[in-house]
Amino acid sequence: MVDLLGQYEKIKEQIDNSILEVVRSSKYINGPEVASFKQELEQYLNVKHVIPCANGTDALQIAMMALGLKPGDEVITANFTYVATVEVIGLLNLKPILVEADPKTFNINPDAIRNAITPRTKAIVPVHLYGQSANMEEVMKIAKEHNLFVIEDTAQAIGAKYTFSDGTTETVGAIGDFGTTSFFPSKNLGCYGDGGAIFTNNDELAVAAKMIANHGQSKQYYHDKVGVNSRLDSIQATVLRAKLPHLDTYIKNRNIAADFYDNAFSDVEWLETPFRDPKSTHVFHQYTLKTKGVDRDELRSFLSGKGVPAMIYYPVPLHHQKAYSDASLYKDSDFENTIDLCKSVISLPMHTELTEEELIYITKTVKEFK
Ligand SMILES: *Cc1c(COP(=O)(O)O)cnc(C)c1O
Repeated sequence: MVDLLGQYEKIKEQIDNSILEVVRSSKYINGPEVASFKQELEQYLNVKHVIPCANGTDALQIAMMALGLKPGDEVITANFTYVATVEVIGLLNLKPILVEADPKTFNINPDAIRNAITPRTKAIVPVHLYGQSANMEEVMKIAKEHNLFVIEDTAQAIGAKYTFSDGTTETVGAIGDFGTTSFFPSKNLGCYGDGGAIFTNNDELAVAAKMIANHGQSKQYYHDKVGVNSRLDSIQATVLRAKLPHLDTYIKNRNIAADFYDNAFSDVEWLETPFRDPKSTHVFHQYTLKTKGVDRDELRSFLSGKGVPAMIYYPVPLHHQKAYSDASLYKDSDFENTIDLCKSVISLPMHTELTEEELIYITKTVKEFK
């Protein structure tokens, strides 16, 4: 599904040297590499504050803690997403309210958000799924009307840009009160271990998030809040510094592969190629097709037998997961799109190193299925 080794080999010398430099500096935690990466990412995203942390799940948790959300507060998020988004809501004893997906973009549906709002709603967590922005125009409008916080889960979409109807364009993660991301190796900007970050344009929220990520500490050995220990280490920061200047090229390569797939499948009536929202650029963390009238799991085994990996993101709606099911809250009839997506989506190999030869083989093999 990804070729991390191929990507490394192209920048091997720089990566090797910078890692060695960190080893020799012995500044393994909170070293200068972390501070430089923070600044470079702020510039890239055009956001005032980046707070590096240990992973994308922590980033979500720290953002929610920094907003001062209290047990019982309701947080609206997507039913069709990775578990991390909803996990931290549960972990903080907040009440996750899962809502329906848009059948075209697969992202959170603004009408479903409106229907889910109660007097206890405090925040909305849109996820920019597969690399394309959620409908941030509507999300921000709803948030303003109801005085809600917005935390954008940007783990799959770093570098994507969203254009509002007034013509302003912003980088995802810099639109809501907080943005969060993951530097898990296979993410679009991945390190060689775990890593994550929180973004905000709000000075006070930045101070709060920074404090929480560092044991709730205001100055050394003074702890004003209950916090966590969540750090990006210097070796990961140096890898990310080496890769950040290539991120736009990585995004371009992913788009070239996506265009190739789109073209090859345009005449396949049992496949629906990814919808491109004209308001968002797409950074193609995943290239995800919707199958129509074929057995998706049979297709996956067929491909696997021919050496083409394919994955299902995600096979089970969160409201069917034991940890998050709640019969008093959720009925299947409210989640027709989500349930349909879980049964019909399939993701093909998508990374920065796909060759034309590989793309030809993959698309030819897919078409042989029927
Ligand atoms: C990967 C991912 C996360 C979690 O990131 P980790 O660094 O693995 O903790 C959160 N949300 C989404 C949507 C993701 O894809």
